[in-house]
Amino acid sequence: MICHKCGIVDSLIAIPEITRYSHILGECKRCQASIVAAPTLRKSEVSQQATVGQGEYREEILASQYVQMIGSSIAEKLPPYSDIDRKAVDADGKVRAYFELKERSNTLNAYRVTKFPYAKIEAAARLHAETSLEVHFVLVFADCWARHIFQPHAAYEKGALPFAPSYRPGQRTSMRQIPVLIPVETFEVLKHE
Ligand SMILES: [Zn+2]
Repeated sequence: MICHKCGIVDSLIAIPEITRYSHILGECKRCQASIVAAPTLRKSEVSQQATVGQGEYREEILASQYVQMIGSSIAEKLPPYSDIDRKAVDADGKVRAYFELKERSNTLNAYRVTKFPYAKIEAAARLHAETSLEVHFVLVFADCWARHIFQPHAAYEKGALPFAPSYRPGQRTSMRQIPVLIPVETFEVLKHE
């Protein structure tokens, strides 16, 4: 497991593959935080994201918070056809990094791996090759913010089965939705609630 407060990994306690009910996994050896595995909320429980409009508004706020966190100024949305959602632009107009922000209603330690479309990794590779800039994947979990910075030389693991967010049933069989599997123990914990 990985501590959602201080970020250290305790490899003696494994993160479950799947979490179906909230429970305490253990206590952090460094900061004594109680580490909870809590599953994704059901749609009906996520009242804040009841409509797409509210979800987009919330994403704007979270994206702005993230650029401030890295000392940049503006979270500029890229065109809709882009596979990476945004870039962080400094006050002087210089692009600091590209980033993709995803909110999850589960806690950091609920699932051993985090999935998102593998196409995002391919897009990150292209962007990084073109610009030499970092591409950040920012995950906002229920109990902390965490980040994976695209690594050009890493071997990313591909999931066998396509997955699709439930709000896009038409993409269930699309190759775009083959997921990348990133072990959450490799994330960098940015801040906690
Ligand atoms: Zn800790």
